Amino acid sequence: MEPPSKPRRLRCSVQNYDWGILGAGSTVARLYSKNSASEIVPDKPYAELWMGTHPSGPSFIAEEAEPPKPLKGLVSENPGLLGEKVAERWGIDLPFLFKVLSVAKALSIQAHPDKELAKVLHETRPEVYKDSNHKPEMAVAITEFEALCGFVGVEELKTVLNSVPEFVELIGHEDANKFLHVNEDDGDDKTKTILQKIFTKLMSASKDEYSVLVSKMKARLDAENKVRTLTEKEQLALRLEKMYPSDIGVLSSFFFNYVKLKPGEALYLGANEPHAYLSVTPATNDFNEACKCNLPHKTKQWRRSEKQLPDSLLHVE
Ligand SMILES: [Zn+2]
Repeated sequence: MEPPSKPRRLRCSVQNYDWGILGAGSTVARLYSKNSASEIVPDKPYAELWMGTHPSGPSFIAEEAEPPKPLKGLVSENPGLLGEKVAERWGIDLPFLFKVLSVAKALSIQAHPDKELAKVLHETRPEVYKDSNHKPEMAVAITEFEALCGFVGVEELKTVLNSVPEFVELIGHEDANKFLHVNEDDGDDKTKTILQKIFTKLMSASKDEYSVLVSKMKARLDAENKVRTLTEKEQLALRLEKMYPSDIGVLSSFFFNYVKLKPGEALYLGANEPHAYLSVTPATNDFNEACKCNLPHKTKQWRRSEKQLPDSLLHVE
C-alpha cells in the first residue's frame, strides 16, 4: 500500500437537529461557518458537525475542484491513507465518525447495536440502517457535560423504588417488591429477569399512564423542595420535565447513572450501553459541548425485546 500523503483539508457536514444550540452561541455553528465560509443563521439550531464518510453527512476534500471529491472516494482510491491494519480489519472506508456536538436540550435515551444486531438490522432494513458496523462511542467534554449512561446498580435501583412512588405505580407493586427482595444469592440471571420486566413495563407504558405520573411526581417534588434539598437525580428529573413535560424520559432517568464530565474528561459507551446526552449545566449555565466519535448516525428507531436487557431499548444509529 502507498504511504499516507500530506494532510488534506476537509469540508464537513452540519446537522441542524432541533436540540442543537441556536446561532452563533453554538460551537458547531462557528466551526461550520469557518469551514464552509457560510453565514450563521441566528435562529437555526446547529447540533452536530460531522467529519467522516457517512452517507447522511459526508465530508469532502476542500481543495478539490467542482464537484468536490468525497472523502470516501479519496479513501477508496488510496487505501494506504487508512494504514494497513485499519484497512485489513475494517475494510476500505473510514471506520469511525467524528462529531462535535452543541447540545441545548437533552437528547433521547439511546443505545447502539452490537456487531451481531447491527448486521441483522442492516440486512433487513438497509434503507434505515446504512451499515453493518457496531457503534461503540466515546465522548470527550469540551465544556462541563452531563449524561445518563448505563443502568444503575441493584442497590441504587432499590433506593429508587423506595423513594419514587410514581415509578412503582407505573411498573406495579408486585415486580417492585420482587426486585426489592432480590439479594446476592439470587444470582445475576434472576436479577436480570426482574429488571428486564421492570424496564420493559416502563418503556412500553402508554402516554396516558406515564404523563399523569410525571405530573404527579413534579407536584410532589415541588412540594418537597420546600422542606428538604432534593437529590441530584430528583433535580435532574425536574429539569427534564421542564424540557419535555409528560415525557417517559423523566421517569426513566432514575434507571440510569447520572454522570458529569469536566472539560477534557471522556465517557466511553460500549455497544448496547444505554445513554443520553443532557443539556445546560444549571450551576454554570454553560451549554454542553463535546466531541464524539462513533460509527454512523442516526434515526430514532426503538426496538424492544423481552429477552435481552440492553436491547430492550434501542435507538439504533
Ligand atoms: Zn450515542
